[in-house]
Amino acid sequence: MILQEEREMVVEYGKKMVELGLTVGTFGNLSVFNPKENLMAISPSGMDYYLTKPEDVVVLTPDGEKVDGDRKPSSEYDMHRIFYQRRPGINAVVHTHSTFATTLACLHWSIEPLHYLIAYSGADVPCIPYVQFGTYELAEAAFNAMGSDHYACLLGNHGLLTCGGTLPYTMDIAQQIEFVSQIYYYARTAGKPVLLSDDDLKVVLGQFQNYRQK
Ligand code: 13P
Ligand code: ZN
Repeated sequence: MILQEEREMVVEYGKKMVELGLTVGTFGNLSVFNPKENLMAISPSGMDYYLTKPEDVVVLTPDGEKVDGDRKPSSEYDMHRIFYQRRPGINAVVHTHSTFATTLACLHWSIEPLHYLIAYSGADVPCIPYVQFGTYELAEAAFNAMGSDHYACLLGNHGLLTCGGTLPYTMDIAQQIEFVSQIYYYARTAGKPVLLSDDDLKVVLGQFQNYRQK
């Protein structure tokens, strides 16, 4: 089976996304890109994450052409492939409907730098206006909002999008940004959050390089 390892990872992390409470039902989607093969493995559209098998995961070229798999690929395949086509170093994309990120997306609130973990995204988490799901327009709006220095974005009236170098790390971004969304919602509804400066965030980004085990 082509891209077997990547397809197995999509299955494993799809279940993880549900276990972490980052999405509801069959919604959300995830993909991994293999730059050597120039192919991506993406979750099938509308399938129960616990019933999805590696062969259900669809293999596409970054141009969106199907190479392997009988299933229909995620309806958001444009929002995944646009990163593999245009942003070097991005090898995974995760889209969730997690509760607090989606709440902020429905308020059209971008997330300000109130907690150091926002550095998982960048200096902030931008929020784009509502665009119909499953469209190339949504893919472009999210891609443009993230530019070259953001790893997360809120999709207006919809959910959260994250991208990164590996699938485990990209899922980690989704989990941390959901936490920051929750804190931001509570802080904004309680008062006026005290924000971190650009310098504070630069220090955090430097510290992240040496965080965790060698
Ligand atoms: P798919 O099931 O087609 O991946 O769509 C889910 C979703 O979240 C659409 O935005
Ligand atoms: Zn969605």
